[in-house]
Amino acid sequence: MNSTFNPLLSSREALLDWFETQGTAYPWGDPRREARIDPYKVWISEIMLQQTVVSGVLPYFNRWISRFPGVRELAAAEEGEALRYWEGLGYYSRARNLLAAARKIRDQYGGVLPSRADQLKALPGIGEYTARAILSLAFNQDLAVLDANVKRIARRLEGLVELSPAGETALQTRLDQSLPPGRAGCFNAALMQFGQKICKRVPACLRDSSSGGNLGFPDSESWAPCPLQRNCRAFLEGLVPLIPGARQRMITEKAADLAVLLWQNRVFLYPKRRGLGQGLYHLPRKPRPAEVKSSGEPPAGALPGDLPTWTPGPVLKTRVHTYTRYRETLYPRVYFFPGDPPPLPCGPAGGEPGFADSGDLGRGGWFTPGEAQKLGFFSVYRQILDEALLSF
Ligand code: SF4
Repeated sequence: MNSTFNPLLSSREALLDWFETQGTAYPWGDPRREARIDPYKVWISEIMLQQTVVSGVLPYFNRWISRFPGVRELAAAEEGEALRYWEGLGYYSRARNLLAAARKIRDQYGGVLPSRADQLKALPGIGEYTARAILSLAFNQDLAVLDANVKRIARRLEGLVELSPAGETALQTRLDQSLPPGRAGCFNAALMQFGQKICKRVPACLRDSSSGGNLGFPDSESWAPCPLQRNCRAFLEGLVPLIPGARQRMITEKAADLAVLLWQNRVFLYPKRRGLGQGLYHLPRKPRPAEVKSSGEPPAGALPGDLPTWTPGPVLKTRVHTYTRYRETLYPRVYFFPGDPPPLPCGPAGGEPGFADSGDLGRGGWFTPGEAQKLGFFSVYRQILDEALLSF
């Protein structure tokens, strides 16, 4: 292969042709038809897409846009409401950053998203990648984006088995130089979708080796060659298996008992002040010791020992809460208090030994089901609450 050969540049037209016929429009706009997409929608979608794929984001995006259709509506929202509309997406600090950034855009830029990289990157939650995505898709600026999908394709096209930090910077520069002038948004979207559909972590060319190098589009009835293969160095030099996708994350298993405390048609909830789930409401939670984490049933009296004046009620469905690098099995149980008023699950010093967030429990209070509906929760906590509230 010629040493001056630039696989990224040489693949450009084939990639854009593929995107034109096989790509799909985003719910927030179609980069094939629109030179500029609503900056606010691009911004919200990019932040949501940091956790999941387009199909997973869609219901959350639509719900968010119908409640907060623009910067001003978002900037005027209470934090609790923004968190409630983020429920189910995880990484709640992103919702808090959206809110803080919206207020800054309202106060400093008259409610209009700035079109300068330095100004965008000074907003909470917007880094280099998100700024480039907004500027290319919404402002038609000639900037390439290098997310995990794009990096994987670029490495394969260039046959880069190793990639140092300096090599990554150089790759970003070559990608910028490969952009079709005036069509960066379209090119970026094409690369992203190509990485999601064809050149996945296990790419089509490895999945369909039986077709004699005729690479498959697995979701299509007719098999077609990968449109980039004749410019793909990894394919031509047999390096594809050496350039995999992102490494699998190590997941840590945890377990905890949850107490759904019910008293006079009210449930006890507390807001978390810091750390993961900050600003969301929680149920009192007690982590299980390592030796009982894997047992399926709660040990008898797991929490009553900590809540001696409470009457144990139904054991609720066991649920799994997955967040960052943890998978936590939750064992919720309802507890009733017959008298009046009930002791809170925290002492005067603001905490009960053994409970997580014990310092925050003292800030908790009693909420009717209607009031609880308006608060923000991790979605798994809301499911538990809904099940518990049906039981009384
Ligand atoms: Fe990706 Fe294989 Fe196509 Fe190369 S030939 S771009 S590795 S799918």
